[in-house]
Amino acid sequence: MIYYQNMVNLEVKFVLMNKKEAKARIEALRNELNRHNHNYYVLNNPTISDYEFDILMRDLAQLEKLYPEFIIPDSPTQKVGSDLETPAEAKQEKSNNSEVPDGKNHFRQFPHKHPMLSLANTYNIEELKEFDQRIRKFTDQPYSYSCELKFDGTGINLYYKDGALERALTRGDGTVGDDVTENTKHIPSIPQHLRPGSGYPAEFEIRGEIYMPYEAFDKLNYERELNEEQEFANPRNAAAGSLKLIEPSQVSGRCLECILYHLIAEEFDVPTHTKAIECAASWGLPTSEYAKECSNIEEVTEYIQSWDEKRKTLPFPTDGMVVKVNQFALQKGLGYTAKIPRWAVAYKFKPEQALTQLISIDYQVGRTGAVTPVANLRPVQLSGTVVKRATLHNADQMKLLDIHYGDYVYVEKGGEIIPKITGVELSKRAVNAQPAIFPSVCPVCGTSLVRDEDEAKFFCPNSDNCTPQIEGKFIHFIGRKALNINAGEATIHQLFTKGYIKELEDLYNLTDFQLLSLDKWKEKSVANFKTSLEKSKSVPFGKVLFGLGIRFIGETTAKSLAARFKSIEGLKNATREELLETEDVGKALADSIIGYFKEPRHLNTIEKLKEAGLQLEIGASDTKVVSNVLQGKTIMITGNYSVPRETMKQYIEAHGGKVGSSVTGNTSYLVAGEKAGDAKLKKAEKLGIPVISEEDFYKIAASEKGADIGKPNGENEKDETLF
Ligand SMILES: [Zn+2]
Repeated sequence: MIYYQNMVNLEVKFVLMNKKEAKARIEALRNELNRHNHNYYVLNNPTISDYEFDILMRDLAQLEKLYPEFIIPDSPTQKVGSDLETPAEAKQEKSNNSEVPDGKNHFRQFPHKHPMLSLANTYNIEELKEFDQRIRKFTDQPYSYSCELKFDGTGINLYYKDGALERALTRGDGTVGDDVTENTKHIPSIPQHLRPGSGYPAEFEIRGEIYMPYEAFDKLNYERELNEEQEFANPRNAAAGSLKLIEPSQVSGRCLECILYHLIAEEFDVPTHTKAIECAASWGLPTSEYAKECSNIEEVTEYIQSWDEKRKTLPFPTDGMVVKVNQFALQKGLGYTAKIPRWAVAYKFKPEQALTQLISIDYQVGRTGAVTPVANLRPVQLSGTVVKRATLHNADQMKLLDIHYGDYVYVEKGGEIIPKITGVELSKRAVNAQPAIFPSVCPVCGTSLVRDEDEAKFFCPNSDNCTPQIEGKFIHFIGRKALNINAGEATIHQLFTKGYIKELEDLYNLTDFQLLSLDKWKEKSVANFKTSLEKSKSVPFGKVLFGLGIRFIGETTAKSLAARFKSIEGLKNATREELLETEDVGKALADSIIGYFKEPRHLNTIEKLKEAGLQLEIGASDTKVVSNVLQGKTIMITGNYSVPRETMKQYIEAHGGKVGSSVTGNTSYLVAGEKAGDAKLKKAEKLGIPVISEEDFYKIAASEKGADIGKPNGENEKDETLF
């Protein structure tokens, strides 16, 4: 069996299914696709290749076509994938990726003037010819195609007004995008001003791709590896993550490039797309030199085939070719479906594959206890590198592949850094080959593995005694977002192997003798380490709480909990109900906190860390009033702000104000964020309480006593002074 199906014969695949099975499969596919959409667009961390994604999407579309009664408007086939970090989606994300804002959307959102749709895609020339036949049927006028190399980056929509860049939005969900204007100012190829007098329309929007050249990508990942940060899976995700950096000035270091390929202007009359793009180039906008006007589909096919190999020598990533009907009048006639234009299609290049033999399988236990099967392979060349290892993902995937030791397997570089096994060549299987079976116990500590309800992975539950998990706990604790201690994974591994550290507090009792026994450690490294230990004693409580590594407590949640319960004692004594009342705290997290404090070992660690001098409560300076400009004011907050709600509360309190619990006659203002509560707004209106925007609130706060108290900063900086 080859795992890849022939996509043309999909219907055959589903004919044998009964209705009930089809419904179940449809639901499973939707869930899976939604998950992959989230990984791709929001986390910038895909776990499958585009090709696999497209196959799943096609399966779903085909099944929905056979069983239209099961189509729902919310199906992934009916909507565009979204890169928006809505609070609901980003909630409790356990990602280490600093590019993924934890729990909150940092960008203001604006609607696109015209929806940003996706493109129909295909992997075969036959379908491209069918696309052409449909157009031929529609018109008897002559037409041509614009055939453009598809840059593999992240979508951008630029608005220019009177020659100046007014706004840059990400694709978002196709209707609404994140405002990344500030960030795009640090991308040199995006002009802030167009060439004066070059004839651009007064207002227009132009869409394109932000991408990262391979050289910049390699450099970035190299730096991230040195800093022990999670590497980006591919240049596309690196580009998407970089475009959404919280600090705009950091964007310039990422060497992003931009290419624009779709102009929408009302007051601008040119007959073809090619002409429009030529004009855009003359205004000073970056356009592609890898586009060609083709007079028929045969020419298109030729151009595509000419790039299949040649593209591998380009210094930036490409994943296909976009074919567009060139004449605007015909584009207009063909129109759109809800999701895609009928006048364009993306031809995608197939990912490279190699066939090699499976030698053995390692079962790696990660920091969270997740067990991942990794195949050791007979070395083989793939996309310019030698591949020796590949991931098998999880037990389900192994079962699906029905993998046997000694099998010949297809390897591919998908979304991830480590290649993956995508299929087994059954014709080459030895008669006596033994199936590979996923272990039932932890390969490190022997504890029976468990599987969480909605997780595809098996976990070792022995988090306190299983070596990779203990080391993981230390690595999390010393991380930049936690205690920020000057040591790396290798150091932790040595310290643990030598028996110098067992519990977190042991880090604070290491002797010079012990430290000097570490590989390459000299007086200087010992001194640096000790300085960072000293500094960690003033790290605010919220970060210490995050550092403890209580399951499901992310960076933002840790801050919310610290603000709400003020100290580790307060958190320990909190009831389940009180925990659930805290912003961002769900049932799993509440139970995890309660479970954590039941363990005597954990209580002992907390005592010892307190003795070592760590901040286990909100310090006196943290609650100190910064100003009294809001004194006597009761301020009610509702909706989402540009900062976490807890930060907003702290801000009000730090400036002498009081945060109200409900709208009453005594309320001074209602500060309405995005998605403000309807009931509160109505009540405020009824009582004549001023309803103001977040921005206005900062202005009012600043003008109360003529003092500019500024506004709270989006993420860490301000919180650090508050917690
Ligand atoms: Zn274990």
